[in-house]
Amino acid sequence: MEKAVVLKIESSYSLLNLNTLGIDAEAEFFAQASSVDEVRDCLAFAVANQLLVKVLGGGSNIVMASHVKGLVLNYSNTALQVVNETTADVTVKVGAGYNWHEFVLFCLSRGWFGLENLSYIPGTVGAAPVQNIGAYGVEVKDFISAVHGIRLSDGEPFMMVGESCGFAYRESCFKQELDGKVLITEVEFSLSKKPCVQVGYAPLDKMAKEKGLPTPIELSNWVVQVRKSKLPDPVDMPNAGSFFKNPVVSTEQFQELIKRFPGMPNYPQNSGVKLPAGWLIDNLGMKGQSFGLVQIHALQALVLINNGGSSEDVLAAASMIKNSVQKAYEVQLEQEPRMFF
Ligand code: FAD
Ligand code: NAP
Repeated sequence: MEKAVVLKIESSYSLLNLNTLGIDAEAEFFAQASSVDEVRDCLAFAVANQLLVKVLGGGSNIVMASHVKGLVLNYSNTALQVVNETTADVTVKVGAGYNWHEFVLFCLSRGWFGLENLSYIPGTVGAAPVQNIGAYGVEVKDFISAVHGIRLSDGEPFMMVGESCGFAYRESCFKQELDGKVLITEVEFSLSKKPCVQVGYAPLDKMAKEKGLPTPIELSNWVVQVRKSKLPDPVDMPNAGSFFKNPVVSTEQFQELIKRFPGMPNYPQNSGVKLPAGWLIDNLGMKGQSFGLVQIHALQALVLINNGGSSEDVLAAASMIKNSVQKAYEVQLEQEPRMFF
């Protein structure tokens, strides 16, 4: 007996529960595809109806318009396959729809190490390469050996090795030249079987000094604990994580700023000095400040809480914050979450 076709393309589909900022948005068309064939069916529908295709993961790093035109496509495949294994390491290929934190926990349960510091980041495996997710001194680029996907223009498959993905601080080619042009179907990760924990960031360093060096599983638990204590859960307080990237200023500008703000934390980089955007905002006394329906989180100035506002409300608040920072420090903040219009 032939398998029934289950792909459903729905019109006027609510995206309210598919973006962590809780914007009451609606897609002109929406489909969830679980296989490459289903993605190709969706692309054929889009061509036939002259629709743009917009790829949505877990919706935790986007600002959505109230009406998203075209076909919003979510790829839900969670297949996981070991493609190479030695006594020292493993290469694992994972479907883009796999929940990121669940994947980190799965790796830890198998004794595959490296992703511990990236525990509890919301979203999907497929979105991880898009902004080269990072936390507590670790970036996912160091573990991605390849990215597989489909070109939205013609449904053809592609594969890119990690080194060609243009990875940088919260950046990749998927946000630049390939923006809106591909759907990532699988990501390959190379992970070590030898534990090597990184506890350089202050909260983890403090815990390591108190309790001793953690095992990778303990480190993952610490990261979850620290994140839960500082970051609002989008279910209770809709947000998209850090709303601004940390700016990197020239050494000359830093020298001027540190004279005026001697307590300003700073992290020297190859290209200049990284300043924590959260501190820049907090230092202006803006923590907890509301702009209509949008509020700067009381515990973490980099997070905007949306209390039922639209993308216009969120962007207006972001613009006021950027202007205040620009005026006070002559530093231009750059928005991190992607526009989903
Ligand atoms: P979405 O928000 O759905 O999409 C983000 C972008 O990726 C969009 O442009 C979308 O089109 C594209 N995209 C998604 N899936 C695919 C795919 N399969 N193929 C092609 N393009 C795709 N980020 C960090 O880096 N570090 C953190 O520590 C961190 N902490 C966070 C904490 C909170 C509370 C929140 C809400 C967010 C945080 N983020 C963090 C941001 C976010 O979780 C990550 O960027 C995550 O990778 C986004 O995944 P997503 O599936 O929700 O992507
Ligand atoms: P934090 O510890 O309060 O530190 C503030 C900022 O200072 C961080 O953004 C971090 O930059 C930088 N920093 C701190 N210690 C550093 C060090 N030893 N070397 C270099 N830079 C250092 O940060 P937090 O808000 O609680 O977040 C903790 C980690 O989770 C950070 O890595 C942050 O990026 C990540 N996070 C990201 C998001 C997101 O949406 N993108 C949301 C929540 C948390 P970096 O950001 O460059 O690491």
